[in-house]
Amino acid sequence: MHSKNRIVLLIVVMLFAALGFSLTICIDPGHQKEADLTHEPIAPGSETTKAKVSTGTRGVSTGIPEYVFNLELSFMLRDRLLEEGYDVVMTRESHDVNLSNIERAKIANEANADLCIRVHADYSSDNTLKGFMVIIPSSSSKYTAPIYEESRKAAEKIHASLLQISGIKSLGIRVRDDMTGFNWSEVPVLIFEAGFMSNPEEDVLLSTSDYREKLVEALVTGIADYFLTK
Ligand SMILES: [Zn+2]
Repeated sequence: MHSKNRIVLLIVVMLFAALGFSLTICIDPGHQKEADLTHEPIAPGSETTKAKVSTGTRGVSTGIPEYVFNLELSFMLRDRLLEEGYDVVMTRESHDVNLSNIERAKIANEANADLCIRVHADYSSDNTLKGFMVIIPSSSSKYTAPIYEESRKAAEKIHASLLQISGIKSLGIRVRDDMTGFNWSEVPVLIFEAGFMSNPEEDVLLSTSDYREKLVEALVTGIADYFLTK
């Protein structure tokens, strides 16, 4: 991490600590070893349902399952955030769990997390498609209107920070209103889609510790920028 960013980050966390707050980040490593395709409502009181946890994708070159990538990157992010003085709550720390997207959202709610980051990697039938994206809840959905603004602010800081990685391609910040994990969330939340495991080159890149470290440092800096300007 650049020393300037590191100093800014330390000041932010110390400032909050001095005011008697500790900042809590919930990290949700997407998916799990076995999908649970039974359904749950996509929003409180909704009659529309969706699979509790889908399968996730798999690296076209590396064969790495997305749920493995998600947890490995999440552990790196957790360790860096702990080093910087944040409290971190993980929705899962192993692959052999069965946690629906509602249950994951409730873990963040119960922790009263200041921000929830859901870690994923992407798939497309177009194997030339590459790049990261940040997905946030919708302002027009009654379920997520209360968390939209903070989710958007956090996403913008994190997105800007990730853009500093040399050669990285962004697919922007996207809004979705059909995500169970968003609709049940009472805390600011975003999905970090790290890149496409369906793209042969990006899949290999995502498997390298060098690139993973860059992503994690950028996330940590973006998170600090968000709290600094909140
Ligand atoms: Zn996923």
